[in-house]
Amino acid sequence: MQYRRVSLSQTLFIHAQGKELERQNRKVYKFGFGQSPFAPPQYVLQALRDNIHHKEYSLVQGDETLRHYAARFHTQIHGIPAAPERTLIGPGSKMLLYTILMAYPPSDVLISAPSWVSYGPQAKMAGHHVIRIPTGFGLRWRITPRQLLRAMSKKIHPHSILIINYPGNPDGLSYSEQELSELADIARRHRMLVISDEIYALLTFEGQHYSFARFYPERTIVTTGLSKWCGAGGWRLGVAFLYPSISRKFVDSILGVASETYSCAPVPVQHAARAAYRDIHAALDYTERQRRILRQVAQYCYEALHRAGVQVHRPQGAFYMFPDFSPFKDKLHRRGIYNARQLCQTLLNDTGVMLLPASAFGMHNLLLAARLSYVDFDDPLAKADFDVCRDCPRIVEGIQHLTDWLRKL
Ligand code: PMP
Ligand code: GLU
Repeated sequence: MQYRRVSLSQTLFIHAQGKELERQNRKVYKFGFGQSPFAPPQYVLQALRDNIHHKEYSLVQGDETLRHYAARFHTQIHGIPAAPERTLIGPGSKMLLYTILMAYPPSDVLISAPSWVSYGPQAKMAGHHVIRIPTGFGLRWRITPRQLLRAMSKKIHPHSILIINYPGNPDGLSYSEQELSELADIARRHRMLVISDEIYALLTFEGQHYSFARFYPERTIVTTGLSKWCGAGGWRLGVAFLYPSISRKFVDSILGVASETYSCAPVPVQHAARAAYRDIHAALDYTERQRRILRQVAQYCYEALHRAGVQVHRPQGAFYMFPDFSPFKDKLHRRGIYNARQLCQTLLNDTGVMLLPASAFGMHNLLLAARLSYVDFDDPLAKADFDVCRDCPRIVEGIQHLTDWLRKL
C-alpha cells in the first residue's frame, strides 16, 4: 500500500532525539528544538487549576469571552483590527494555519527559504503548490520586495497565499516598518491572501513589532497564541484574527474544516487563556522580563559565534539564530562534511551540541547553516537578577563546545 509521504516534523523529531539521548545518559545541549523555557505566570496557572472541571465542548470558533479578551489584547498592543466575531481559537496556531490552508481553494503558497518547518508540508497536504522565495545571509534571510515580485512573476494562481513570519523562525529576525509597507503594497496589487504568523511578536526585544495587518488590513490573517509568550506550547492554544472584509463563505469553510477535525480547543485551557489575555499590563510586565533575559542570552550566543568567525545576525526576537558556517567550508570539506545534515550530525557526535540543519527550513542541503535555539536553560524568572553565565550553564557550555569544535577543525 502506498501511504502519503509525510515525515515526522523535523522540530518534533529533534525534540524526541534529545530526550532519547538523555535517556541514554548522553550529555547533550538541546539547541535543536524551540520551546519557551519560561513557566506561564501564576495567575494563568491558577486559572487552569480553577477551571479543570470544564468538561463540555466549547463553540468551534472558541469561547466568546476569550475571543473578546484576545481581540482586545492584540488590538491594543499591536494595532490589529481584531474583533471577537472574527477571532478563532484552536488547539495551537499550527492547527489553525492548517485549517485555513485547507479551507482555501488550491493555490500557490509563497514562503521564504528559510522558513519554519511546517509551512511547506502543511501547504502540500492541503493541496497547494509551494513556491519558495530564496533569501540569503546578505538579505538577513528576509523576503525583499524584489524577491517577492520575482516569485510572483512565475506564479500561476491569481489569488495566491503569502505566509510571512516575524520575528522569524529560524533566524530571530524581523522586518522594519518600511519593508512591511513595501511588501504590503505588492500583496495588495496582487490581491494575495497573507497569513502573518506573529506568534513571537511579544518576544521582540530589538526594535518594534509592527503587525502586517496594519499595512494590509484587507486580506491579512494574523496567527498567534499562548505557546511562546505565555510559555504554554504543550497546552495547545492558538488564535487567528481574520480580516474585516472576509467573505462569509471563507469563514464557513474554515469553521467547517475545524468542526470536522478538532471540534474545539481544550476548554480548561481556554479558561486559562481568558486570564492570560484579560490583564494586558500583567502580560506586558511578564513578557518584558522574558525579553530582558532572551536579549542577554541571544547577545551572548551571537557574540561568541561572531568572534569565532561564524556568519550570523544579532537576533531581534523569538528564541532563534541561524548561524551560517560557510566561512568554514574548506575546513569542513576536509573533514568530509559537505552538507548541513552531516554538519549537525558530526557536531552532535563530537560535542553533544544539537542544531537543526538549514535543510529542515527549506534551504539547499549544501548550505552549511543550521538553526540554534538558545533556550536550553531553566526558568530564571523567579530570581532577583539574571546572569547568563550563572543561570544558563548549558548554553555557556554548549556554545563553548561549538566554538572550540570550529577552532579545532
Ligand atoms: N509558527 C512558528 C513560527 C512556530 O515556531 C511555531 C511553534 N512551533 C508555531 C507556528 C506553532 O505554534 P503553536 O501551534 O504551538 O501555536
Ligand atoms: N516551534 C518549535 C520549533 O520550531 C517547535 C514546535 C513545533 O514545531 O510544533 O522548534
